[in-house]
Amino acid sequence: MAKLYFYYSAMNAGKSTTLLQSAYNYRERGMKPLLLTPTLDHRAGSGTIASRIGISAEAMIFHTDDNLFEQINTLHQQMGINCVLVDEAQFLTETQVWQLSDIVDQCHIPVLTYGIRTDFRARTFPGSAALLSMADNLVEIKTICHCGRKATHTLRVDIHNHVISQGEQIEVGGNERYVSVCRQHFKQKQPSARAEQLQYAQVLS
Ligand SMILES: [Zn+2]
Repeated sequence: MAKLYFYYSAMNAGKSTTLLQSAYNYRERGMKPLLLTPTLDHRAGSGTIASRIGISAEAMIFHTDDNLFEQINTLHQQMGINCVLVDEAQFLTETQVWQLSDIVDQCHIPVLTYGIRTDFRARTFPGSAALLSMADNLVEIKTICHCGRKATHTLRVDIHNHVISQGEQIEVGGNERYVSVCRQHFKQKQPSARAEQLQYAQVLS
């Protein structure tokens, strides 16, 4: 039975890598996955999903006012789609999450979405909030903080690694702008182990 999946994590946990591996697995079995990526993410050029480990694939771009049910259903009538994979799913609107759920319920096509759960102020993105409440399966992709705990939060930093706590929710940047940390180090605004090491150095000297 087709399901709506939400694979969520902090930044840089390997979501795009996991998505591309799933797409590869579908193709290897002679099936047709449809890859989607939002237009506001231009890091890898429009229409491409790229992973930090060097793999990439072509993807259909979508805008926040696109009707994803109509677009995907039309494509499905033309070519037959076995699976839909959505990158940067935090940027979906709530309406689009409902549309994706219709792809699952009416077209019986599994939809796998991949996104960041919360922004740099620990607030859920609209797309993530809708997926957390509607997805059949929630799957956490884990990564770790510099202290070894599971990283659940994302800090936004400037080029000097100073934490930025103001600004727009959506500011797409490279990996260097965001650091995934545990909740404790999110509260302490510590994107790296450097501050702790300095404290230890002071205690020892
Ligand atoms: Zn930590």
